[in-house]
Amino acid sequence: MKLKAALSRARGILAQNAIEDAPLEAELLLRHVLKINRTRLYLDLEQELSPEDEKAFGHLVERRLSGEPTAYITGRREFYGLEFYVNPHTLIPRPESELLVETALRLSQSQPVSTIADIGTGCGAIAVSLALELPRTRIYATDISLPTLEVALVNCQRHSVTDRIRLLQGDMLKPVPEPIDLIVANLPYVKESELTPQNFEPLLALDGGAEGTESIARLCRQAKSKLAGGGSMLLEIGAGQGETITGLLKSLFPDGAVEVSRDFSGIERVISLSLSRAKVAK
Ligand code: GLN
Repeated sequence: MKLKAALSRARGILAQNAIEDAPLEAELLLRHVLKINRTRLYLDLEQELSPEDEKAFGHLVERRLSGEPTAYITGRREFYGLEFYVNPHTLIPRPESELLVETALRLSQSQPVSTIADIGTGCGAIAVSLALELPRTRIYATDISLPTLEVALVNCQRHSVTDRIRLLQGDMLKPVPEPIDLIVANLPYVKESELTPQNFEPLLALDGGAEGTESIARLCRQAKSKLAGGGSMLLEIGAGQGETITGLLKSLFPDGAVEVSRDFSGIERVISLSLSRAKVAK
């Protein structure tokens, strides 16, 4: 069978089984079997697929149909135009989290940012993206899970930013040794009741407690002693959490400015807190 036919058959099977982005997923799985990039795949579409590769491809499609995410099958996920290694110890980066990176970069153009902390860094996608864009910034990336930090380390090495990012294991901001100008975080924010038993991603990265906001609220409280005067915090939030978190931030930081931005689906996604310059963190 030619690559072209194998690809189109897999696309059909995935689409029939309601897998979103079936064409892209089929392509990623076939490229994983053949260990080739996108250009090579398209140049080789008329080539024959060996019986072994055809079998291996079929097996990966089966795994996908059983619910396993393509990113875990291939060990790769693209985020902010960069490729990251992921495994089941990390959340799979979502396109909407790129909004956190973009907002952080915009902010760094209007205020001095010499230290950043990415809390609950996971595979390190946010920290690495920022490190590449802001080469003079000192970045701390923390996570409670050691196996997760091992994944982040692989990505720091892959993108040559080990000298700019310090990976720290611990509870949110606790291991961070100095005041921070910009805190960014994509913490767990899924309501406990909305977690499905078939989740392949780590519960630790998804479970936000009864209301979904427990981890975010805890970080907001920790930020009080770590956010530098004039500093900012950007938090990814779940749908409908804007009001709760805005209220909490206003009570913790009465002089801070709080703003909520929506993602490309129109859902409230990033909440930002900016402290005034004159104010010194207590
Ligand atoms: N966006 C993820 C989801 O909806 C949740 C990510 C998170 O909890 N930070 O599954």
